[in-house]
Amino acid sequence: MPTVYVNGRITDAADAVIPVFDHGFLYGEGVYETLRTYDGKPFLYDAHMARLRRSAGMIALDVPGTDDEMLAKVRETMAAEKGLEEAYIRILVTRGIGELTYSLAATPTPSLVIIVKPFPEPPASHFTEGISLALVSIRRNHPSALNPRIKSNNLLNNALAMQEAMRQGAEEALMLNQQNEVAECSQSNFFIVKDGIVATPPIAAGLLPGITREFVFEVGRDAGVTVEERTLQTSDLWNADEAFITGTTREITPVSKVDGRPFGDGKPGPVTRTLLEVFRTKARQA
Ligand code: PMP
Repeated sequence: MPTVYVNGRITDAADAVIPVFDHGFLYGEGVYETLRTYDGKPFLYDAHMARLRRSAGMIALDVPGTDDEMLAKVRETMAAEKGLEEAYIRILVTRGIGELTYSLAATPTPSLVIIVKPFPEPPASHFTEGISLALVSIRRNHPSALNPRIKSNNLLNNALAMQEAMRQGAEEALMLNQQNEVAECSQSNFFIVKDGIVATPPIAAGLLPGITREFVFEVGRDAGVTVEERTLQTSDLWNADEAFITGTTREITPVSKVDGRPFGDGKPGPVTRTLLEVFRTKARQA
């Protein structure tokens, strides 16, 4: 049962409510972060808070309080969730309650929501067999229209992409940008491996700078594997030896195929497996 903090009040999910005049509800005006714990400790908390503040800044929104104060609220919410082992934590800050207008003056007080629930472990087969992706027709938002760097509660682009992938029986949606380059997935970043080198699209391709993505550069250094940013065309995708996605709730998840086309022998490749192993060791030491 999720436990939810809403503007100072901690309840179970059924009693966690936000007024309909909150502009998070009316206009999708808000930003969020998803975190998880390893051994009960929120992983890469500082990096998530830095991104939350960056996202908020890009929509002229203030994240209330200090990082330490936010952490105290997160811990309080975690403490109220019975029998919690590893946690899924979602922090949302919305514009707040106000009249039906886009004017910032209407919403002086942001709303703060923290959702805590048991961490939903992905099926073990995702790591041992890999997942399938669909290269969907929905393009990632163009940065000059709605910058994917803003981790916004307004997730229609992501939801429509994922729903298209689900209709095709895939586990994640891979999106291109307006230049037909590979951008990212609906809820994760995308990497390929070619000739032992790991590559992921640059932020300029129009994507969310994932905290896990960033961590994978460090993991690569520890594992002696080169990880670089590189513009990826679809030809790079089809010619790759291996592929994987990264995300807070997915760690490093091998991709066995895209649109039914397998990488290598269709099993998680050696570079992906090494990175996942080093990732897991490092995550518990962080
Ligand atoms: N891209 C998108 C669009 C996402 O929603 C997410 C998940 N938050 C990611 C990438 C991965 O980011 P992170 O590693 O910070 O979870």
